[in-house]
Amino acid sequence: MSSQARVQALFQEPACETNRAKDANARKKGCSKPLTPGAAAGGCAFDGAKIVLQPVTDVAHLIHGPLACEGNSWDNRGAASSGPGLWRMSFTTDLTELDVVMGQGEKKLFKAIREIIEAHRPPAVFVYATCVTALIGDDFDAVCFRASERFGTPVVPVHAPGFVGSKNLGNKLAGEALLDHVIGSHEPDDVSPMDVNILGEFNLAGEFWMVKPLLEKLGMRVRACVPGDARYLDIAGAHTARVNMMVCSTALITLARKMEERWGIPWFEGSFYGVSDTSEALRQLATLLVREGAERALLDRTEILIAEEEARVWRRLEPYRKRLSGKRVLLNTGGVKSWSVVAALQEIGVEIVGTSTKKSTDEDKARIKALLKDEKHAFDAMAPRDLYAMLAGGKADIMLSGGRTQFIALKAKTPWLDINQERHHPYAGYDGMVEMVRQIDLAIHNPVWEAVRAPAPWDLPAGGRIAAVDDDADFVARTRRKFAATTADDMGEC
Ligand code: SF4
Repeated sequence: MSSQARVQALFQEPACETNRAKDANARKKGCSKPLTPGAAAGGCAFDGAKIVLQPVTDVAHLIHGPLACEGNSWDNRGAASSGPGLWRMSFTTDLTELDVVMGQGEKKLFKAIREIIEAHRPPAVFVYATCVTALIGDDFDAVCFRASERFGTPVVPVHAPGFVGSKNLGNKLAGEALLDHVIGSHEPDDVSPMDVNILGEFNLAGEFWMVKPLLEKLGMRVRACVPGDARYLDIAGAHTARVNMMVCSTALITLARKMEERWGIPWFEGSFYGVSDTSEALRQLATLLVREGAERALLDRTEILIAEEEARVWRRLEPYRKRLSGKRVLLNTGGVKSWSVVAALQEIGVEIVGTSTKKSTDEDKARIKALLKDEKHAFDAMAPRDLYAMLAGGKADIMLSGGRTQFIALKAKTPWLDINQERHHPYAGYDGMVEMVRQIDLAIHNPVWEAVRAPAPWDLPAGGRIAAVDDDADFVARTRRKFAATTADDMGEC
């Protein structure tokens, strides 16, 4: 299928509610909005594909294009690996103008694949197209196919050059590459009725490791977590799992839908953020597994585990409830976090004074509406100046957002906590909820806020440091003499 046809097919995604609500013409145009002149454009499709695939940890990721494309997208999320480190090595064909003029692209690509395989012996090489190599018409598929045959290692072409669209589209194209070349290419010999796949989980700051032990306690096995801390062969055998849970609604929805069509794997969308959402996700996994043939006792085991874990997590959260109850949080994130984190925080009595619905689907928005007392607290996107006015006006005690807006909060002398992909703390599962609340508590009660909000010493009417210095007649006289001498020396030299 050509790239254009593939992109058009993704725009028609029937599992997406937003898409279903559109007419045929609107669907053809896709989901990207025209850019605002002067505004940052966000990641390109290649960036989106790299975000989804790079956390596959034992694979070599080779970027076929100019060096800057790799620099732009390399490891820009905080995904974690429990073993291999190859995924964090940077491989690129580093195409220059001369290579383009001399038609060296395909040769360089083949050579790069050979060098990688000889030096690292990876289970597979993922090769990414970029704008330049797609525009000059390198026969990407043919090179990958030939290299695969010659070296006996799967070489997977990822067709998501930057110009085809947005980062979200790139996420979906990465899912297509997995479907076309990876999933179903390996038959594991240890298939069980308790196998599940977790799709769209990136294992940021290692947070999936807070969830996996819960699944294992119930006897479930994660056949593949796509892509967080994934191994190539696990994904290649993902078609044997009985149930798919989709964690991030926009990124891999097409993958989930097509896996159901091709291999009959039922899927649901859930979240591991917050106590009740984690419990609900466990319940849904158990229910679907039983429906697919697992023993019924799993349902009882799940309820017992949920009861134990919820009792334990509320005991651990109790001290924070007293410290944080009534605190006002402004949530400037998007997508699934816009509702899952709201639910989590409301559980401990925190008031949500605003949540952004940017990048949220209609389903996400409906969930937010059900959770918030006042619908006006949900906003699409707030201009930086409005965010600043809100925070400087003391309308929130803390802002939770991504790194890009942190300086607005810091300028308004308001605590801020990173809850996006670059964060360093894991927030998933029951223990992740405790960690998130602990971090909010640490940020709000950090003594630094009292210090930065106090007037600067030089603004104090009397008793501040400058006033004290002014009182020191000797110090003032000494400084004046020194300044006069220095100035005279300098002028003399001239
Ligand atoms: S837009 Fe094109 S050139 Fe720029 S980083 Fe993306 S793939 Fe590379």
